[in-house]
Amino acid sequence: MLVPHAAQALGQVLGERLSRAKPDLDQHGRSESHFPTCPPEAVAYPESAAEVAKIMQICAEHRCPVIGWGAGTSLEGHGLAVSGGVVVDFSRMNKVLEIRPADMDVTVQPGVTREALNEELRATGLFFPVDPGANASLGGMAMTRASGTTTVRYGSMRDNVLGLQVVLADGRTIRTGSRARKTAAGYDLTALMVGSEGTLGLVTELTLKLHGIPEATSAGICAFPRIADAVNAVIDTIQMGLPMARIEFVDSATARAFNAYAGVAMAEAPHLLVEFHGSPDGVAQDAARFAEIVADHGGSTFEWSSRPEERRALWAMRHNAYYAVLASRPGARAVVTDICVPISRLAQAVEETQADIADGPIPGPILGHVGDGNFHAILLIDPDQPAEHEAAMTLSHRMAERALRLGGTCTGEHGVGLGKRRYMQAEHGQGWTIMGSLKQALDPMGLLNPGKVVPDA
Ligand SMILES: Cc1cc2nc3c(=O)[nH]c(=O)nc-3n(C[C@H](O)[C@H](O)[C@H](O)COP(=O)(O)OP(=O)(O)OC[C@H]3O[C@@H](n4cnc5c(N)ncnc54)[C@H](O)[C@@H]3O)c2cc1C
Repeated sequence: MLVPHAAQALGQVLGERLSRAKPDLDQHGRSESHFPTCPPEAVAYPESAAEVAKIMQICAEHRCPVIGWGAGTSLEGHGLAVSGGVVVDFSRMNKVLEIRPADMDVTVQPGVTREALNEELRATGLFFPVDPGANASLGGMAMTRASGTTTVRYGSMRDNVLGLQVVLADGRTIRTGSRARKTAAGYDLTALMVGSEGTLGLVTELTLKLHGIPEATSAGICAFPRIADAVNAVIDTIQMGLPMARIEFVDSATARAFNAYAGVAMAEAPHLLVEFHGSPDGVAQDAARFAEIVADHGGSTFEWSSRPEERRALWAMRHNAYYAVLASRPGARAVVTDICVPISRLAQAVEETQADIADGPIPGPILGHVGDGNFHAILLIDPDQPAEHEAAMTLSHRMAERALRLGGTCTGEHGVGLGKRRYMQAEHGQGWTIMGSLKQALDPMGLLNPGKVVPDA
């Protein structure tokens, strides 16, 4: 609870940048997904790491919960203030602090979004590859260990964060990692923080790896008669070691949603959307080899293009998939599922999921970053029909169980938040207890994003 003394002390530090206005509280109590609204008691808008440390010190003194907030796009209720307290909104800490082209790295404040960073990098010939479908903040992306369409080639946030500045629960500020590309110096606190969903500290600065914009890029699309054919083509492609930069799957319902939303004319069939990065000859050869794999699996002619505007249109359409699918059932809310399995079990996982959804009462288009074995069903429910919510939760539950049974994980990229906490024991066993011990060591009063990720103390 935010006690009046804490509110007064925070107000002295932040002035008007401590908000208790209802619209502000409501906006920071909503999630993109299906969770009920749960507003905090105040929203703080710090402008520096020193202010964040001060906020944390005051909240520790008054035992007030503190929840970080980036762009608010996470899908498992991560940022909901289930125990009340203060949301720390990082949108005013949005500066790119230093770009170092020679070292191919960059230091940013946590409120910089992935699109803003790439805009800033435009003249350097470098880019930051991790691209979740939403224009998320880099702080939020680090905290959810986000990934995206290019992870199959460039890795997720786990692979692209070199170091962090973090304010701990007692108000101390630490640095993790360094700018070196590798280190053997002790425990990897950067890796511990990345994916911790704001339960271990507040990130006030990130140093990230950058990558060279490839000399040539080609992208393409092809349709398949059945989901299994598309998925088996992906498995062959990955097992052959063909260097894909992106390999994305959409089912026929998603293709139909694209047609209506993006005004395209795709066949209503399962599709793969792919991209290759390299030299002009290299990408042409890769595309030709991929076309052979597609043909082996009964796919349509692989149509590819190196023209930037065509590629941009293709990936803009893919990045808007969530909104296209949502628009396919007007008034619906989405329960977005997110499982990841070893590549050899991908066809089984997708087929079983599709059959399960087909047997149920609600639509659930399937799409995913299949090159990583990761896919989503976007279950569309009428928010006024509790039975539909129930059906979606049952389908989602069976997907998580299926993933664990097949040697995978209950969340490939969206994270735990409120929604996936129930699977942590099954996925990690005693490992989940150890996560609780780490939380206890770093945040003994349980102030940082309570009710998320770890077992209750
Ligand atoms: C349309 C759509 C498509 C998506 N596609 C993908 C996808 O392809 N891949 C993927 O990985 N995700 C995807 N997501 C989910 C979401 O975009 C990611 O989880 C993203 O990383 C969240 O970033 P954010 O800035 O919105 O963080 P928020 O939602 O604001 O916060 C996420 C978590 O991090 C904590 N947090 C935020 N900033 C800080 C900080 N500075 N310090 C400490 N804690 C902090 C919050 O407390 C919360 O627990 C998608 C979401 C949508 C709506």
